Amino acid sequence: MTTFSELGLSDLTIQALSRKGFEEPTPIQIKTIPAVLAGESDIVAQAQTGTGKTAAFGLPLLELLEQDARKVQALVLAPTRELAIQVAEEINSLRGGRTVSVTPIYGGQSMEIQLRNLRRGVSVVVGTPGRVLDHLRRGTLDLSSIRFLILDEADEMLNMGFLEDVTEIMEQTAADKRTMLFSATMPPEILRVAKKYMGDYQVIRAASEQLTATQTDQIYFEVSAADKFEALCRIIDMEEDFYGLVFTRTKVDADAVSQRLMERGYDADTLHGDMSQSLREKILAKFKKRLARILVATDVAARGIDVHDLTHVINFDLPHDPEAYVHRVGRTGRAGKEGIAITFITPSEYRRLQFISKQAKTDIRKARLPKVSDVIQMKKERIRAELAAIVATEPELEFLGMAQELLEQSKPRETLAALLQHMFQEELDASNYREIEDAFVVDKKGKTRLFVTQGRKDGLTPKRLLTFLDENCRIPSRKVWDIQIMETFAFVSLPFQEAEKVLSMFNRKGKDGGFVFTKAKGRPTPPPVRK
Ligand code: AMP
Repeated sequence: MTTFSELGLSDLTIQALSRKGFEEPTPIQIKTIPAVLAGESDIVAQAQTGTGKTAAFGLPLLELLEQDARKVQALVLAPTRELAIQVAEEINSLRGGRTVSVTPIYGGQSMEIQLRNLRRGVSVVVGTPGRVLDHLRRGTLDLSSIRFLILDEADEMLNMGFLEDVTEIMEQTAADKRTMLFSATMPPEILRVAKKYMGDYQVIRAASEQLTATQTDQIYFEVSAADKFEALCRIIDMEEDFYGLVFTRTKVDADAVSQRLMERGYDADTLHGDMSQSLREKILAKFKKRLARILVATDVAARGIDVHDLTHVINFDLPHDPEAYVHRVGRTGRAGKEGIAITFITPSEYRRLQFISKQAKTDIRKARLPKVSDVIQMKKERIRAELAAIVATEPELEFLGMAQELLEQSKPRETLAALLQHMFQEELDASNYREIEDAFVVDKKGKTRLFVTQGRKDGLTPKRLLTFLDENCRIPSRKVWDIQIMETFAFVSLPFQEAEKVLSMFNRKGKDGGFVFTKAKGRPTPPPVRK
């Protein structure tokens, strides 16, 4: 196992990583960090979102930037404002007390705020191409002395028609900077940009092992990050004898999830790499004896542990690479026993799940989370079965005698109901469960409601919208539901996958000033009337 320190990172960074809960570098980090720290050349790296690519360039960047310098030393270009904000936040969280400031700049945020930040002097600007160009043209951003340029999700920038903007920006940057290009795919246009605008570059790919498909039944649920915990509780409660591993991305998350489980009365434990060997062994022994039925772990901690007969492996967070997925999932369904692997994904992780499923050569089918009423029903059935089993083994005489007395003294139905209420009221109380707000993006039928930035006054009609989706995104009208055209905006529902496609292509104004799609907020309108 490679450690962060072996990659050449400083103690300050190692401390920041530990606070963040990262235990070991991801494959792309293992290759990129030393290449940036020790080498001189430019870099072209193939990596998807979710592989840890932001830290792959962010960590060495933080090591190499001058502190206290009140000038822009690095520019990160990202295709969407969401990504720009996310990247800026991630780099900020890895600073470890360094006086290096990072600011996102993107369309839609007030120019005033951005100008104020830029005037104050920032070290790293993370921006969308359009807004960066605006600032360059106004003379409010000077890139003539930057030392690093990072193109993040280069293929997305290309797909969204930013190529010209990006090259125009590149031309205005210092000649002796180092450039790092990250892209999930490597179409020829990207390599042409690299050849034309970059110096000698090193190509980095996180090598993937040849993976063998796993046989375990695998399903996924779409849930928002905020609802993952509630979803986990429902899954555990549906199972009679849940015995499983729950994987989180960081040790901080592992601690938090197991703490919440314990607060809710589950026999849960945590296992992560920070623990002493003896503590880890103790926890594992407890889990093997089934004294704890849920073990929340990171990949590092779970590596090499030998536990059999798990009913469930739950990917509370998607793993960083397909190898980790196969490794996690392979822990259930062993020794001929049936097991199930469940993965939670937030809507924006859908494409990564597809990638993982392709690489892992495995089908991961979508399933619906159990409803609260399903969970309660399941618990009632279990109570019935348990009672029947006790009756079958003949209750002790003492209890038979007491039952006889009770039945003689009061009404049998009410007496039994009182006994059940006394025993199971808490367990069968539906209000123990929180509603899962699946409506904020994905409605009950698994569709995503999108908001469209044009309406009737712009000449938008259902037909125009259908034609647009058909011609630009190859989405046939039979997959489009529930169009609502208002005066200045509109709504449309699409299956999750199609919506993701539209969002990736049109969530930023194109050069021709066409539609922009974003996720609708609030509950989608209910009646699924076909147009
Ligand atoms: P990215 O691919 O940069 O979007 O990162 C995906 C997620 O993984 C982010 O939430 C990061 O904070 C997290 N992450 C990145 N590197 C690591 C690591 N080495 N260990 C655990 N989590 C990580």
